[in-house]
Parts: sequence; C-alpha cells; structure tokens
Amino acid sequence: MLRYMNAEEFRVLTAVEMGSKNHEVVPTSLVAQIAGLRHGGSHKILGELARKNLVSRVKNAKYDGYRLTYGGYDYLALKTFVKRNSVYCVGNQIGVGKESDIYIVADENENQYVLKIHRLGRISFRAIKSKRDYLQHRKSASWMYMSRLAAIKEFSFMKVLHENGFPVPEPIDNSRHCLIMELIDAYPLQQITKVKDPGKLYSDLMDLIVKLAQYGLIHGDFNEFNILVKENGDPVLIDFPQMVSTSHPNAEWYFNRDVECIRTFFRKRYNYESMLFPKFKLDVNREFDLDVQVSASGFTKQYQQELEMYQKELDESKDDEVDGELNSDHDENSEEDVSTAEDSADLSTSENELNSDSESNPEILNNRDYKA
Ligand code: ADP
Ligand code: MG
Repeated sequence: MLRYMNAEEFRVLTAVEMGSKNHEVVPTSLVAQIAGLRHGGSHKILGELARKNLVSRVKNAKYDGYRLTYGGYDYLALKTFVKRNSVYCVGNQIGVGKESDIYIVADENENQYVLKIHRLGRISFRAIKSKRDYLQHRKSASWMYMSRLAAIKEFSFMKVLHENGFPVPEPIDNSRHCLIMELIDAYPLQQITKVKDPGKLYSDLMDLIVKLAQYGLIHGDFNEFNILVKENGDPVLIDFPQMVSTSHPNAEWYFNRDVECIRTFFRKRYNYESMLFPKFKLDVNREFDLDVQVSASGFTKQYQQELEMYQKELDESKDDEVDGELNSDHDENSEEDVSTAEDSADLSTSENELNSDSESNPEILNNRDYKA
C-alpha cells in the first residue's frame, strides 16, 4: 500500500502529523489548510487514509477531526527512510517487545538491516494521562511524542557507543519513532543453553558493565534478552531504553541491578557462580563523559527527564492497571469515536545506544578478570 500511495495522500497524512503537534484531534479544516490542496481535495483523501487505517476519524462535541494512527506514523517514517535510501523493502518481523516491534528490512542493494519501531503508550496510557504535567504543552502528542523520544534516545546512545568502539549495532538512520540499525548475526543470550566457556562470557559481560560506567553510562536493562552472543562468543549489547548516567542519583542501584542480573542468569542457566563481580564504588573510576556526548548529540537532559518520568509512571500504573485494558492515547470524555471496525485495527496493533584504545588507556582497558 505504501508503494502505491501518491504524493497528495502523503501530503494530507503529513498535514495530520503536523496538526497533531498542537491538537489531540486535528480539525478537518486545519488539515485542509496545512495540506493546501484545492477545495475538497483533502476531505476525500482523508476518507481514503481512514479506510487504510492511517488516520482515524474522531467526532467530538466541538468539531470533526482526525487523529494519526500508529500505522500512519509508521508510513511517514518509512517514507522518509525510502527517500533517504535507507530502506527499500520490509521483510519479516523478528521481534515483538512490550514497547517495540522489530523487522528485517533491506536497502536497494539487498543489504539487510533491522528496523525497530518504538511503540510507547501501547500499554495503559490512560493511567498515565492524569498526571502528565511534565509533558506540559505536549500533552496532545503523548504516544507519538514519547515513542519518538525513545527512538531518538536509542539512536543517540547507539551512535555514541558505536563511535567509541563498544559492541553495539551500527546505527544507520532515525525518523520519528523508528530506527534502522545493523543486523547482528547472533542469538540472544536467553536462547543459548550451552556456552563453551561460561567464565569467559561472564567476565566479558562484567567488563562491559564496568567499561560503560567508566565512560559515564549504565545500561539499566542488562539482561539475557538484550545481549546477543555471536558464534565466536562475543557479546553485542542492544536495547537502551533505560540507559542512565553514572551521575544519576540512583546510579549505584542501577549498576548493581545490571550486575545482579548477569550473576543470577549465569547461576541459573549455566550453574556458574563467581565470587568476583564489580562494585560501583570500587571498580568505577569515571574517565569519560559519554553521557555528556549523548546530550550534545541531541538527546538532551530534558528529554531524558521526560522519558524517566514516563517510565516511572508506567511502573507505578502497572499496579492498578485494569486487566486487558490496552489503550492508545484516547480522551474518551470529550469525544465520541466514530471509528469503524477498520479503525479499531489501530487499537489492536496497539495491543498487539567504546573499544577504546587499549594502548592509550591502559588502566581502563586492563580488563579485570571476573572469572572465578
Ligand atoms: P525491546 O525494546 O522490545 O526489548 P530489543 O531492541 O531488545 O527490543 O529487540 C528485541 C529482539 O529483537 C532482541 O531480543 C533480538 O532478538 C532482536 N533484535 C533487536 N535488534 C537486533 C539487531 N540489531 N540484530 C539482530 N537482532 C536484533
Ligand atoms: Mg529488549
């Protein structure tokens, strides 16, 4: 469908996106005005876009309008990737996370990459909605805004980590809530029942945690699902949703949690236990400011705080979440949704970021051996 969409359809879809910066439901008249098509042109196209589930029509007490769906947002991002020649075709979905979808994609030369689509807000935005003060004027764009922030965050971290020689996928491109990265030919640690040398892998992983911290960063979700292990046994780190600076007030707690995650996993899975493991206060002497570099690359402190608030509220809201109540951003008090069965497909989709140079930094790279 994306291939066959014409320029006018994209123009109208883009108009809905632009309008949603200030409107939760973009008035039909505003879409027409932004798109600037001849009279009536955008009305007809809006109808077609709604049929394709790229926008959904909303009728509220005050005005008629449209809201961009996740599908529509996906199309806009893909269109941008196509224009920049980062993507030519989309292949199989290889992962469905709680807050992301992962697909294999390829460029025109058949080079394969990974497309990660962030989908924040697919779980319980309703609970969060009441206290979204920290979002201020951006309240209207919740899921779109938060998903975009998550993608920018992941891309910024991946870029800085990759540039500094850490074993992470190479980041290729970013648009809106999506990013394109190198496809790593490896399995998640979680799927690996036997390793040749658990001691070596354990030690490599602990070194990675310490090295990150020496560069000013803590992964925050360092677990068997976010560590890919190559055939030669080398680990690759992915997924940086909760990456925090070592200057964060709870840095030590996050650090210990990452360490504990690996210890527990190795004990349970490989029956491997070592007395040796890194300690924040003892082993971390911060030498570099990658957190500052990330901030300079576009992912600012303010963005970081907004995402942290979101994460916190999400954790809190999990406790009083009504079972099965999955919601996209939806203000059901003031609007009467006139969506068709097709529109609800939007809701069902909703359900459904440093090889430093060892010669020049001997202290840092003198890997401590955490092997027992
Ligand atoms: P989530 O935020 O949903 O946890 P992840 O970034 O951890 O998403 O990716 C989910 C899964 O997709 C991973 O466990 C891995 O199997 C696969 N995956 C993600 N990125 C890549 C990649 N660059 N190369 C290969 N597989 C990947
Ligand atoms: Mg993950």
